[in-house]
Amino acid sequence: MTDQSSTKGMRTKAVHAGEGADPVTGASSPNLVMSSTFVVHEPLSFSARNMREDMPYLYTRWANPTVRQLEDKLAALEGAEACVALGSGMAATAAVLLGTLSQGDHLVVSDINYAGTAELARDTLPRFGIEVTPVDTSEADNIARAMRPNTRIVWVETPANPIMRLTDIAAAAQVAHAADARLVVDSTFATPIATRPLELGADLVVHSLTKYIGGHGDAVGGAVLGNAQALSAVNVEARIHHGGVLSPFNAWLIMRGAATLPLRMRAHQENALALARFLEAHPRVERVLYPGLPSHPQHELAVRQMDNFSGMIAVRVKAGAALAERMMRELRVFHYAVSLGHHRSLIYWMDTRDLTGSSFRLSGAALESYRRDAGDGVFRISVGVEDVEDLRADLARVLD
Ligand code: PLP
Repeated sequence: MTDQSSTKGMRTKAVHAGEGADPVTGASSPNLVMSSTFVVHEPLSFSARNMREDMPYLYTRWANPTVRQLEDKLAALEGAEACVALGSGMAATAAVLLGTLSQGDHLVVSDINYAGTAELARDTLPRFGIEVTPVDTSEADNIARAMRPNTRIVWVETPANPIMRLTDIAAAAQVAHAADARLVVDSTFATPIATRPLELGADLVVHSLTKYIGGHGDAVGGAVLGNAQALSAVNVEARIHHGGVLSPFNAWLIMRGAATLPLRMRAHQENALALARFLEAHPRVERVLYPGLPSHPQHELAVRQMDNFSGMIAVRVKAGAALAERMMRELRVFHYAVSLGHHRSLIYWMDTRDLTGSSFRLSGAALESYRRDAGDGVFRISVGVEDVEDLRADLARVLD
């Protein structure tokens, strides 16, 4: 394996970390090892509790060479000691929440985040006797007020799906650590190219690899990153016992995608900024939420915390629900589809009543605050890497 210790640039890490010429064949590109089991030459314990870091490969649910190569690449990009890659972003989220919280523990979680995370926190955790308090984490004071003696995890997603609300990671880490809790950041929208939460004080980082890191919309995966001790526990609990493994084939595809992450993020940001400016000037558009625009309510934090503003835009448009139907029929370049972070541009209508009622369950001041940003709904746009003139023309045609 190539020595990675002296390679500091993100582009070099993205290409080389975790990879190296195969010592037997000289193959320059990573091998895809699909074997579920491995021939052993020494007695090895059958219990995951006796697993050792330096142990030979035994069984792919425990560890797999191709998956490990991806994990090494992601750890280098995120500046983490260790990484566990799993079968989806939700498997990574569940690994942290179900793998480290116990009955009687308390979780503080952003009141707006990916709907699957919101529902897991509100529905699944309480079934296991875990208390959950959703708060608007864009203000660190709200987090501080929600802390209890039994709070073990503060979970934030920044930028948050779908309205691009940001959380100040350094401030959240201070609040969490003052109460002996861990800060976990879902950094899927940011990627390590924009933000490295561990450098800002977070304890664990979660990614849906399905999005920017894989980047091509052809492989579902997830990852948890952090220090080796925490990740060893996540590995035994979530991968070996809960079994949510990443297929080596998906790891191989995601690794190939991750090699161009810095280049793609630059193109995503460039296109997103141009489209956000175009939309902000369009008479039918009521509001554009993009961290790279000075009009974003937390633009100053975005500048401080993000090296790249990513490619996600939330747009409020007059009569958005009706426009969504037109988009499904008439868009030619954009795909009207969920998911995000692909090389291909995607757009989807996120209805406020649906999201705030079914997933976020917001009421009172929290609902008002969401409506102030989102109105009756927003189009979530994942800006791809196509020619921006073609993207602008596609949107202009359906907006006019
Ligand atoms: N986290 C965020 C911010 C997401 O947007 C998503 C999916 O959209 C997930 C986690 C879940 O990822 P996956 O679909 O890979 O399970």
